[in-house]
Amino acid sequence: TLSDRLSATFKNLRGKGRLSQQDIDDTLREIRRALLEADVSLQAVRPFVAAVRARAEGAEVSKALNPAQQIVKIVNEELVGILGGETRRLRFAKNPPTVIMLAGLQGAGKTTLAGKLARWLKTEGHTPILVAADLQRPNAVTQLQVVGERAGVPVFAPEPGNGVGDPVKVAKDSVDFAKTKMHDVVIVDTAGRLGIDAELMQQAADIRDAVRPDEILFVLDAMIGQNAVETALAFQDGVGFDGVVLTKLDGDARGGAALSVREVTGKPVMFASSGEKLEDFDVFHPERMAGRILDMGDMLSLIEQAEKAFDAREAEDMAIKLARNEFTLDDFLRQMEQLKKLGSMKKLMGMLPGMADVKQQLNEIDDKDVDRIAAIIKSMTPGERDDVKIINGSRRQRIAKGSGTTVQEVNNLIERFLEAKKMMSQMARGGMPGMPGLPGV
Ligand code: GDP
Ligand code: MG
Repeated sequence: TLSDRLSATFKNLRGKGRLSQQDIDDTLREIRRALLEADVSLQAVRPFVAAVRARAEGAEVSKALNPAQQIVKIVNEELVGILGGETRRLRFAKNPPTVIMLAGLQGAGKTTLAGKLARWLKTEGHTPILVAADLQRPNAVTQLQVVGERAGVPVFAPEPGNGVGDPVKVAKDSVDFAKTKMHDVVIVDTAGRLGIDAELMQQAADIRDAVRPDEILFVLDAMIGQNAVETALAFQDGVGFDGVVLTKLDGDARGGAALSVREVTGKPVMFASSGEKLEDFDVFHPERMAGRILDMGDMLSLIEQAEKAFDAREAEDMAIKLARNEFTLDDFLRQMEQLKKLGSMKKLMGMLPGMADVKQQLNEIDDKDVDRIAAIIKSMTPGERDDVKIINGSRRQRIAKGSGTTVQEVNNLIERFLEAKKMMSQMARGGMPGMPGLPGV
């Protein structure tokens, strides 16, 4: 497995301080191989690995993780980001009924999914009906009726004994039926073929045009592996779809199809199906899928633990220093860097009520600001960092020159640091809460 192979790579990497080109190359080679083994298509692997490489090369070296762990963390984050980037819930129509149409190859799991979706919607307070627009196979209607009965949801089907019905008409009639009977969701099950074929696509497109679905869900058997891309593209072309449902995740498929389809169609995976029973169904969880594709849950939880342990140690160190009133410029810089990280949350915080103040404060630190502070502090001698009081006028000039800043900026920094230090010692004595180090506080 990837974990085993990476563990071997880890051995070589452990203890090194920097992400070298060689480290990155070695680790990415294994990641690439693992993704292909998980049935991610080459088309999807290439841009993915390139994105990971770009991030790994630009990454600051983590103090908590060894280089390979750091790359794995990036891989996982990218994977979750891509899989979940567009995760969204079903869109319900403003004027019910909401029409959901299922499309996909025969055997993909559409009819089973129809029942699962109906049952799930029912538990969410909806009043769905199932529509038998698969009139291709003789027992397809019966199958849907069985599913409907189990889900406790009515099934709209053509009158029996009229020969082969017209699926387009059935679908259209079902929407009128739903309107008069106050069903707020219509789930249209359609026919599939074993392979992609033009007639099938045309029928699906005709049903689509007749019912104007709010959501077309492309149902994809995770077991078809590398064929997922071709199939998805054919359905995107022939019918179009808004979201993907992966089925048969209870099998041993690693789920690379999720990444492939996301990459080539740009459409989100919305639901996951993992068994024949109605309850084997869930909204799609990007993190679980990322773990499954990488097949290294153990490694990921190790990484999490290492980071937690590191954070705890840092916090403890800081508390001890505070108690001794030993808050230094290095601590100050570290705080600024943490705030810089927080800065990326600015947008999010602005959306939360009551966070406007914090957002305002964060707005006042920008990344360049932190970089300049870092440059100034790095231009100081250890003695100066230990005791800023010794930094007189000529030292300030030297520091400004060395860091490519101005004496005014050096003055500002020292002032801010002394203020922060004062505030930190107040906090250590159980005083006011707040965010030390923030300008203007
Ligand atoms: P359709 O042709 O697309 O309507 O596919 P069906 O819903 O009839 O499913 C085809 C077969 O796959 C049936 O035997 C289902 O019981 C089975 N099936 C569907 N979904 C799943 C799943 O998530 N896991 C497993 N193991 N079997 C499934
Ligand atoms: Mg079916």
